[in-house]
Amino acid sequence: MLTTDIARLAVNINTPQNLYVPCNKSFRGRPQNKKLETIQNIEPHLLAVYYNKSMAQKAAIINFEGQMSVEDRIKKFPEDHNYRRELAKHIRCWPEDLMSVTGTQELEFLLKKLERKNFQPGKNLENFHNGIFKANLHMHTTNSDGKMTVQSLLDQAAKYSKKVKDPPLLVAITNHDILDDAQEALRIISSDPEKFKDVRFIPGVEMSAKYENPELFDLPVQMEILGYCVNPFDEKLNSALASLREQNLRYAGELIEKARTFGIKASFEEAKQYHNLINIGASPGFIGLVKDYLAHKAKQQGVDESAVREIIDDHCKRYGIFPLTPATPEIAEIMETSPAGMYGLSHPGRIELHGLKEGISGEKGIESLLQKFKTHGGRAVEVNYLYPDYYHNEGFDSWLEKIHSLCNQMGFLNSGGVDNHGESIFIR
Ligand SMILES: [Zn+2]
Repeated sequence: MLTTDIARLAVNINTPQNLYVPCNKSFRGRPQNKKLETIQNIEPHLLAVYYNKSMAQKAAIINFEGQMSVEDRIKKFPEDHNYRRELAKHIRCWPEDLMSVTGTQELEFLLKKLERKNFQPGKNLENFHNGIFKANLHMHTTNSDGKMTVQSLLDQAAKYSKKVKDPPLLVAITNHDILDDAQEALRIISSDPEKFKDVRFIPGVEMSAKYENPELFDLPVQMEILGYCVNPFDEKLNSALASLREQNLRYAGELIEKARTFGIKASFEEAKQYHNLINIGASPGFIGLVKDYLAHKAKQQGVDESAVREIIDDHCKRYGIFPLTPATPEIAEIMETSPAGMYGLSHPGRIELHGLKEGISGEKGIESLLQKFKTHGGRAVEVNYLYPDYYHNEGFDSWLEKIHSLCNQMGFLNSGGVDNHGESIFIR
């Protein structure tokens, strides 16, 4: 903090002789006060100035960086602090050590402030260089199919957060059907709250799901639902996800057994080594990976690959559509069994509307899906998703615009993310 800032403060408050400043290494409601003249190098963001020695009632919260103070956030988003209390119990820390963690109230507040450009790092990362990129609510770590460790994700966010002014940097971990790294993130944050104080972190999950509507579709629609502000220690949520993963793994075992009857020497243990998503039994890409593994083995062993095709055709006959696993829950079931602070719909432009009945338009199909999502508690849609370049053409972009305006008409919050699977929080 600069001397000039202290002087300006003093003038503003007009009682320089009585200024007290809490040095909150970790703000636990019992700040250690020091007289103003003894203070050096106070982090401006956490600075609260108290005067006349009566702390709580007469606190003048000064916000140098245009960001909300800790006290203001607790006051403005009280439910979020209850959420932090709940999380803190599980990792045995103070809720104030988790001030970086953002609950549903603040998330909604921030989503309403953010614009499309804030979700886009820019083609040449220009929005990263100028600090306009402020939100990435869709990231994967090594826990599912990402290359980034949770520690690296948080370190990058902490560093970059210094560049981002109001609203602050908002990041989330949204691994496929698994919560271990979201738990780990909370431990990391609580061990050094000061380091992450300018980050707003959302513990999340991306859940495999399907939508069924026999009036409009002949086949189930494959999709994913994001759980934002989840409690990654929640028993109900964990057991719903564990049950899906276990059923998927059992099913993969069946497919591998079947492949063996076709003469493909494949093993479940080897398949698990092939890809981490097979290992954990997660994501809508799961069966595709099992198929890739089997095709790889067939090729390696000179077995006719049509055997693999036959296995997949048989799967489709029984379950309708190729990558969906028999255990994948429907929208309503997810919201019943998997509690989250807020539900978001993943990348709506990537939802394939195969199986639309004749004469039913894509718009009608997606609208009915959005309607169902909303009816069961969906609040946000990833309309600001970073689709890879090869997706974009005139047809796709106008389809996205259609979805976007539909979402706005239906009152969804605009969410978004990069869907990183690599080592950087800025690059897809
Ligand atoms: Zn994803």
